[in-house]
Amino acid sequence: MEVARQEAGYRPIHDRVHDFGEVEQTLNSKDRRLQASRCMDCGVPFCHWACPLGNKAPEWNDALFKGDWELAYRLLSSTNPFPEFTGRVCPALCEKACVLNRFNHEPATNRENEAAITETAFREGFVPVRHPERNGRKVAVIGAGPSGLAAAESLNMKGYTVTVFDKNEAPGGLLRYGIPNFKLNKAIIDRRVDILKQEGIEFNCGAAIECDAAFAAKYDAVVIATGTPVARDLKVPGRELKGVHFALEILSQQNRVLAGVEFSKEERITAKGKDVLVIGGGDTGSDCIGTAHRQGALSVTQIEIMPRPVDGPDDPANPWPNFPRTFKTTSSHEEGCTRRWNINTLEFLGEDGKLTGVRVQEIDWKPNPEGGRPIMVEKGKPEIIKAELVLLAMGFFKPEHSGYPENVFICGDAANGPSLVVRALASGRDAAVKVDKYLNS
Ligand SMILES: Cc1cc2nc3c(=O)[nH]c(=O)nc-3n(C[C@H](O)[C@H](O)[C@H](O)COP(=O)(O)OP(=O)(O)OC[C@H]3O[C@@H](n4cnc5c(N)ncnc54)[C@H](O)[C@@H]3O)c2cc1C
Ligand code: SF4
Repeated sequence: MEVARQEAGYRPIHDRVHDFGEVEQTLNSKDRRLQASRCMDCGVPFCHWACPLGNKAPEWNDALFKGDWELAYRLLSSTNPFPEFTGRVCPALCEKACVLNRFNHEPATNRENEAAITETAFREGFVPVRHPERNGRKVAVIGAGPSGLAAAESLNMKGYTVTVFDKNEAPGGLLRYGIPNFKLNKAIIDRRVDILKQEGIEFNCGAAIECDAAFAAKYDAVVIATGTPVARDLKVPGRELKGVHFALEILSQQNRVLAGVEFSKEERITAKGKDVLVIGGGDTGSDCIGTAHRQGALSVTQIEIMPRPVDGPDDPANPWPNFPRTFKTTSSHEEGCTRRWNINTLEFLGEDGKLTGVRVQEIDWKPNPEGGRPIMVEKGKPEIIKAELVLLAMGFFKPEHSGYPENVFICGDAANGPSLVVRALASGRDAAVKVDKYLNS
């Protein structure tokens, strides 16, 4: 408690907005160990409870504090198959539940410590390539996002012969084709996939699989980890205009461009020289903002239909040790953006088939006398926000699944609806346990 929380922070805005390199910086190892010393090894570590993977932060923080990076990595990877992903993109549920957060709102820097331990482990050769003994049984994993990769890793370690199928050209799911490079450099995914391949997992990319009875019969078990492919649309007049896109259209295309894929001028979606309106106030929207800045947008506005969240750090509706749903400013917001709440979208406006603006309406939410969802009421007059590019970032539908043979298991966002990388990893790992139990019962 004598050492203040120190975050590594982001690269300066004027520097980072001109490239897609990771925005987050790193501390030197002396300061990192000092940060690890802040973990108090509480009698009741709420971080264990809050982390969906049950990561043992007090244990690896202690090893890190003592300078034993190898032990720190061993402890960390005993519960987390891919700490290099969560170390970069996890919203750190553990930190919100940290006793220090309750005490003085300066929780231990678990997420950054996790990333530092993992990068050191890779650099120093502490990340082993393991060769498990085969048990003669075959499992297919459909979907190579974090949940599919976690299920595959876990099953492979149990001795199953695992083939991972993905409809995309490379593994990673939303890690590769959703989350922008400025949050997660794709070389980090390649580095892990290389290890998984050396450990015996076969990857079959560019293969869209329908998990019917014939497919399932070819394997002892099948894990479906296909995520949430259907995004929420906004079916208001003008939706067909050129310039209205789903968030993932621009995000995945930008990530592909950075991977060297070429698109024709007609196919390319870019914010360059445009007023951009992002509809949806969540994290996907924030990723659109950062992407639009880097592509050279003239201006970026983000609107959200729900009210502005309360200012933190405490959330009276969701107190410690729960995750606070408070007002959040991401690195992309810091880079510049007009943010508005309680705004409903009425119509997309255009000329010659091209988007020129969006007619919106300020609203209010009134309590519903019959209970349930509050009632939306209009406030003032509709207005027009000038925009040549609209990005719809309003979330994804939870898919329906039914009628699979009994050797088929579902995990990750496909099972639970849109969530977080850390939850996808935990769900993939749990699916592997279920498969193993099923095949050994
Ligand atoms: C823009 C964006 C940013 C995000 N940022 C964060 C963040 O910063 N931190 C965080 O924790 N979470 C974030 N998330 C959420 C996180 O990415 C997801 O919760 C997580 O990736 C879900 O993992 P998954 O493996 O279940 O599914 P996905 O990552 O969606 O992977 C599913 C895979 O299945 C494949 N697939 C689908 N159908 C088939 C088929 N029929 N045959 C073969 N393959 C198929 C897809 O190609 C895909 O590769 C973000 C999400 C989005 C959209
Ligand atoms: S995965 Fe997320 S919640 Fe779990 S220890 Fe790491 S940062 Fe915390």
